[in-house]
This record gives sequence, structure tokens and C-alpha cells, in this order.
Amino acid sequence: MSSKYKYLTWAVVVLLVLTFLKILPGTSSVIEAFELKSYDFRQSVSSSKHVVDDDVVVLAIDDASIDILNEKYGQWPWKRDSYVDIINFLEESKAKAIVFDLMFLPNASNTKYDQLLSDTISKYNNVFIAMNFDNRDNEVRLPQAIKAKINMEKKLDLLSFSGCRPVLPQLLGGTSNIGIINVQRDSDGVLRRAPLFVRYNDDIYPSLAMKVFSYVNGVDEYSVDKNYVLTAGDKKIKLEKDGAVHLNWYKLRDDISGSFKHIPAWRVVKSLEAKKNNSKSFIPEDNFENKIVFVGVTATSQYDIKTTPISKNTAGIEFQTTTFLNLIENNIIHRTSFFINVLISLVLVLAVGFLILYFDSAIVSVILSSVIILSFFATSVMLYVYQNIWTDIFFPVFAVIIIMIFMYLVKYMTKARDFDYTYKLATTDGLTGLYNHRYMQEQIAKNIASSRRYNTKFSLLLLDIDFFKKFNDTYGHQAGDAVLRYVSDLLKKSIRSTDIAARYGGEELVIILTNTDKEEAYITAEKICKKIAAKKMRISEKQEVSVTVSIGVTTYPENGSNSEELIEYADKGLYYAKEHGRNQVGKIPDDSSVQ
Ligand code: GH3
Ligand code: MG
Ligand code: MG
Repeated sequence: MSSKYKYLTWAVVVLLVLTFLKILPGTSSVIEAFELKSYDFRQSVSSSKHVVDDDVVVLAIDDASIDILNEKYGQWPWKRDSYVDIINFLEESKAKAIVFDLMFLPNASNTKYDQLLSDTISKYNNVFIAMNFDNRDNEVRLPQAIKAKINMEKKLDLLSFSGCRPVLPQLLGGTSNIGIINVQRDSDGVLRRAPLFVRYNDDIYPSLAMKVFSYVNGVDEYSVDKNYVLTAGDKKIKLEKDGAVHLNWYKLRDDISGSFKHIPAWRVVKSLEAKKNNSKSFIPEDNFENKIVFVGVTATSQYDIKTTPISKNTAGIEFQTTTFLNLIENNIIHRTSFFINVLISLVLVLAVGFLILYFDSAIVSVILSSVIILSFFATSVMLYVYQNIWTDIFFPVFAVIIIMIFMYLVKYMTKARDFDYTYKLATTDGLTGLYNHRYMQEQIAKNIASSRRYNTKFSLLLLDIDFFKKFNDTYGHQAGDAVLRYVSDLLKKSIRSTDIAARYGGEELVIILTNTDKEEAYITAEKICKKIAAKKMRISEKQEVSVTVSIGVTTYPENGSNSEELIEYADKGLYYAKEHGRNQVGKIPDDSSVQ
């Protein structure tokens, strides 16, 4: 493990920031909206694999039925003998349960058959009717019989209402088979969840689908444990914290906007007439035998149309049948917790981050990261379709992409820095911080090339510290090193930015003066010579010393055409300076260019 893996810590920090965004009210709704879209995609894949069980059928009040029944029972909403006829017919056909996704609200102009309807419904224990809560100011005391007998170890955060649209008083007093049909849409208006219980003032009421489910299972008492697991008889259902479940929709049929078998209500009415006339029935004998029959409106003229993850226009009744069958099959979707989703994101982020740092080639790491992301996507879809587990897809993928960008930025910034560092190591001298011999040679070659091309001159100073051996012997090698650094620093400060100071070797230093002729070079050399001689250098707390240098000067092109010739000439100048008393610039007398 090299130190570059420390950047994974930064990736985790970025993930934490993103996780914070996930819970921040403003951004969380945006992230959730994308999550729901990824949910709908999975739901459409999943539903194509789930076909409904035909034990659940819909007696559909469709457009044709409304036309036909209007003739017999008066204009919609029909007189209530219509429902009495339907119930009697279905009971005779041995339906297992009859579930009205309809509310029998009091209607002053239509009371004639209310008592008959109530008596008929109360006569059978397998007929269910619907009721709806709202938050308008119409509080009604509802009978004990329709409340849920539920024992909660952990309080569910249920949908709560303060108002009610009561059904016929006869029905409220007569049957306990009343279920609630309030729905809970997501912020985009799509129906994905079904509340199984709702709160009305201080009491809890079961949903219609829950009520029928309990009847079929022969139970009417429930308990909820601290893990939100609902027990109903021998069935266990994991609820969301608000007592709802995520629905798992079924494969749509080709002929209708729904998944369940729809039998038009007019066939029942026509069959009743046929029975009286002893003519052929409009419905096969066993059409309803042992079936759970949901009665509901599918007519487009009644606008009970809902948007689900798999269809924009699903008849409202499909919501009830889907919820019911999901419960019977224990086929509901479970959403993974916030913690699990963040953990999944963390694993993905670390995996992709590691790849990016491990592989030098961006192509390789991008391909492998894409493989990881796609595998995650495929796994999530499989988990959903085959295990009913809904994990977040959008957030982990979003986090991984942000972190990929971040990691690449970090990686290339580090690379650039590493390159700078290696380059510096390769070109500078460790003790003095001046350029090294090799770099100096390169620069001399470059200067020769450009001076040749532009027909200009450049000069070179070769410095040697005087009596340095003696200095070392007197003050020690450490002090010698310090002095070498002092002299080097002074040189760096004394030259132009285009000039180059290098360590030739030992205590010999070189300065390349670009675009400088011999005369200027001598002036510069004199200046440096005096500056160094004047400089007091502290080598210990108590001791200040000074050194002198001797300098040889050489100029291209007059003193040489290549590096060796130029340095050889500088060396001559240096020797001359040493010979003539040191602490000076060596001016060779036969140098014709010197006046
Ligand atoms: P001069 O040049 O004036 O003739 O006398 P000198 O004593 O300087 O003679 P020379 O150039 O031959 O000796 C070079 C000495 O510089 C030898 C060595 O002790 C010292 N020296 C070379 N490189 C270093 C270094 O990196 N650190 C220290 N402290 N001393 C160095
Ligand atoms: Mg020397
Ligand atoms: Mg010397």
C-alpha cells in the first residue's frame, strides 16, 4: 500500500458530504425523485414477470355497464337494489368474498333501497364495503366493530385524519366489514404504496385490502412488533414505519388498463334477466365460484384513474386488488434502510477509488469502474425482481461518479506534483540548492545553440573558494558546508532570472550569464567577488567568518565553440586569479577582447 491510498479517505469525506445532501430537505427531494424513477424502471421489469392469480377477479362497472344498468336502475348513481341484485347473484355463484370498492354514502333522493342493501350486506359475513377519511370538519363517532384490533409494540407513524365521510347509518350499525380506501401518493402523484392501517382521531382502522386479507386468513386481530413486523394469524408482513407497504404491481393485460381479470357488471344483470327467462346466462357457471370478487368502477367516464409505476391510467380498483394479492402472496417490496444504502455507496466508492489509484491507465480504471457500476445496477434489478428488495440506485451511482471525478482530479494533480518533485531532484544539488553539473552542461549546450542561431553571446563564470581546504581544517567540514550554502545563496540572489547558477563540483561553482558579452561578464564577476568578500557568515553562535573567491571568465564564441573549450578557458582565468593573489577575477593578459 503506497501513500496515494490516503486519498481514499478523501473519497469517504466526499461521500459523507453527499450523504449530508441526501438528508438535507432541499436536495433530498431531488435525489428521492430520481430514486423513484429508478424504482419505477425496476417495477416495470418486475411486473412483467408476475402474473396475477385468477382467484381474484374484478366485477367491473365499465362504460358499457353504466349504459346498460342506467336503463334498469335509473341514472348513475343507481338505486341500491342494483347492488342487492349483484350481491345475491355473486352469493349464489358461491363467491368467496365480495368487496365493494365503492362507498354507499347517504343520498336523500335515493333512499328507497338503503335498508334492503344494508340488510343484504349484513346477512352475509363475506361482503365488504369501503369508507374514506378526510380532514374536513365532519367528525363522526364510528362503531367499535370496524376499528382494527391491533396491538403495537412500536407505534406506527400512521396516516392520520380528523374527518370522515360516513356511509349509510344502517350500514355503519349493521356490518363490521368496512375497510378504509384512502391512498397515499408520492410527491410526483404516483401510487407506489398502500397504507394498511390509518388513524382517525384516536383510533386505528384497517384498509379495505387488509380487512379482506384478514377475513381470508380467518383472523381479526393483529400485532406489530418493534421491528415493524405485522403478525396476522400465521402471516407476517414487514411494514414501513408509517404502516404502509410498497406495492408490487402485476403484469398488465393486453385488453384492459389493469392486471386482473375484469368481468363487466352488465353481464351479471343480463344473466339475472336470463335466469328469469330461462335463457342462456351471460356468465359461465363457475365464473365467480370461490373467487374474491372486487366490485369497482373502471368506466373512464367516472375518472377513477390512477398513475402507478407501470401505467399512467390504471383503474382505481386495481390498487385494491393489487394490495390484497400482494398481502396474500406476501409479495410486497421492502426498501433497504438509509444506513444500508449509505454502506452500499461506501463499498462502491472504495472499490472504484481503489481502481483509479491502483491502475495508472485511465482507460483501464474507467472500464473496470463501469463494470462495477453496471454489475451493481444489474444486481439491484435482480434483487428487486427476485427478492423484492429495493435498494437505492441513483444515490450510490451519483456518489460514485462524483467521487470518480474527484479521484481523477486528485490523481492527476498528484502526478503533476510528483513530476515536479522528481524533476527537481534530478536537476538540483542537494547541499547548495543550485543546479547540478548535468543540468549545467545541458544549459551550456542550449546557450551555445541559441547564441549560434541568433548570433548572440553568452558568458560563464567559474568560481572557486580560496583556501577552502584550510577553512575546513580550521573550522570543520560542517562549517565548510554552511559557507558553501551561504555563497550559493548569495549567488542566487546576485544573478538575473535568466541566468543559471550551478555547482560544478566540490567548492567550484558556475554561473551562466545568458546574452552577456565578456565586458559585462567581468563587471558581474567583480561585483560578485566583492560581495562575497564583504559577506559575514555565521558558522556558530559565537563565530562569524568570511571567505573570498577567485573567478575565471569565459565568453562564447570568442573563448571556445563548445562546453569543454569554454570551461578550459575559464579554468585558465581562475588559475591566473589564484596565481595573482586570489580574491579577484582572473584577467589573462593575452586575452585580446579585454581592454
Ligand atoms: P585554493 O582553491 O585557494 O587553491 O585552495 P583550496 O584549499 O580551496 O584548494 P582546492 O580547491 O584544491 O581544495 C578544495 C577543497 O574544498 C577540498 C575540500 O576539503 C573542500 N571541499 C570540496 N567540496 C566540499 C564540500 O562539499 N564541503 C566542504 N566542507 N568542503 C569541500
Ligand atoms: Mg577547488
Ligand atoms: Mg579552492
